[in-house]
Amino acid sequence: MTLWFIAISCCWEYFRSMGQQININYVKTESNLSVNQKNLLEKTIKEHALIAGKILRLPFITITVYPKPSWTIPETGENGFTPSAEWIQIYIDPKNKLHRFDFIARKIIPGTIYHEMSHVAR
Ligand SMILES: [Zn+2]
Repeated sequence: MTLWFIAISCCWEYFRSMGQQININYVKTESNLSVNQKNLLEKTIKEHALIAGKILRLPFITITVYPKPSWTIPETGENGFTPSAEWIQIYIDPKNKLHRFDFIARKIIPGTIYHEMSHVAR
């Protein structure tokens, strides 16, 4: 019983120490995000970057969110770019004409994260 407990705690610590370091930062632009929008985005990005990071075995990644409508795809309100093995840029249009911000953040951004993180892995 005790041994099981120790074994499980060790595994847990091991996975936690392997755990990804995800840094998220935001570029201030004229299309700036509200605090609520940032919180929602942060939640989505963390959740999916952690899953992708585990699967792809990426120990650390910095994700820069850039509210820049002209760099997004009008049909989705987002886009992404991976300049290096440590760094992803996510572009988002908070005033997209087709989709509300909540929809972009919850339903579209996860796909963007997985897509860009697959570029990090390769
Ligand atoms: Zn791509």
